Amino acid sequence: MNEQRETHQLVLLPGDGIGPEVIKAAETVLATAREYLRHEGIELSWQAKPIGGAAIDQVGKPLPDDTLAAAQGAKAVLLGAVGGPEWDGLAPGDRPEAGLLGLRRALSVYANLRPATMLPGLGGQSPLKSRALQGLDVLLVRELTGGVYFGEPRGRAGDAPSRQALDTMAYQEGEIRRVAHVAFRAARRRQRRVTSVDKRNVLETSRLWREVVEDVATDYPDVRLEHQLVDSMAMLLVLKPHAFDVVLTENMFGDILSDELGGVVGSLGVMASASLGDGGPGLYEPVHGSAPDIAGKDMANPLGAILSLAMLAEHSLELPLLARAIEGAVKEVLRQGLRTRDIADGSQGERVVGTREMAERVADALAQDLHTRQALNAAYF
Ligand code: NAD
Repeated sequence: MNEQRETHQLVLLPGDGIGPEVIKAAETVLATAREYLRHEGIELSWQAKPIGGAAIDQVGKPLPDDTLAAAQGAKAVLLGAVGGPEWDGLAPGDRPEAGLLGLRRALSVYANLRPATMLPGLGGQSPLKSRALQGLDVLLVRELTGGVYFGEPRGRAGDAPSRQALDTMAYQEGEIRRVAHVAFRAARRRQRRVTSVDKRNVLETSRLWREVVEDVATDYPDVRLEHQLVDSMAMLLVLKPHAFDVVLTENMFGDILSDELGGVVGSLGVMASASLGDGGPGLYEPVHGSAPDIAGKDMANPLGAILSLAMLAEHSLELPLLARAIEGAVKEVLRQGLRTRDIADGSQGERVVGTREMAERVADALAQDLHTRQALNAAYF
């Protein structure tokens, strides 16, 4: 046993709707990981804090100071989802979503990583032919804190019939450079290919984007860089998604292309994400929203949250083998035929389970894997 103990403090932000259910599910898996990490001299502890609508109801604002302070002081943050019809009538700055945007901004998490792979047995969920899905393994790296969503000036002027609206798409070289490094570093752990997506034929920001990405690429001579225009990329992701490794793009293009990838994979409930900055806590969240239509019914698919936990293990705890073990446990339960309702298609051998049971089976599979490795005395972590 390792004498020197390392302690990692995590913050869980369940949020609204199905958020608390999928975070509870991830906590079940986290508890299993904690037990085994302890043998390796690594301590995990965590606390839950309110965000979004739950925080509005408890303390009157979507991102309480106490929640923000806990998140800023943590090694990593795992968030469920925010929002719901109860809070739809509030002004934009007071709504649950303002809490999430405020948290991303406060943590300066400028690189959003969204992996898209086909999980075992889920090919039938995709609208694409299985030929296009074979070998699909894309990591989309989206710039998250710049571009047209944040550019100034913005606003509206005039009265009907002469109303005007203005948004500004702006990028500074440094914003492009730092997210490009994230993409190239990620490619080095994968197939060493980066596809940078822009609209260079029309936009000044895209011309700068391409120049800076090409400059950053010189630091990574072992990684192959190619460029695609965003309109062409939207088509290629449907025609041959298997042809891409790391896809790097700016904020709005990434927002759109990542949802397209969600459609390609065919199941929102299993998609995970990580948002990373420079050394501060990473923010990990399933891609789905708060799904008020199924909240409180033990029907939510917890795999997106559990796979977000795997990303947390990889990027914030720097325990890639634990990340692989969590992913392996998810694949194992899918191979056994377990399905939540959103990913069930009536195939033979399939068993439909609720959120809680799915999480318990993933935790069991993880425990079995970690136990076997420790019994073999493998230098696992
Ligand atoms: P949604 O992702 O919540 O739901 C879309 C559909 O997918 C629904 O039919 C839902 O039942 C289903 N679904 C989503 N996650 C699922 C899961 N884990 N398991 C099984 N089925 C799942 O998107 P929406 O309906 O457009 O939005 C609902 C609320 O969520 C809104 O208030 C929205 O603002 C909010 N939202 C929050 C986030 C976030 O917190 N990051 C993201 C998107 C939407």
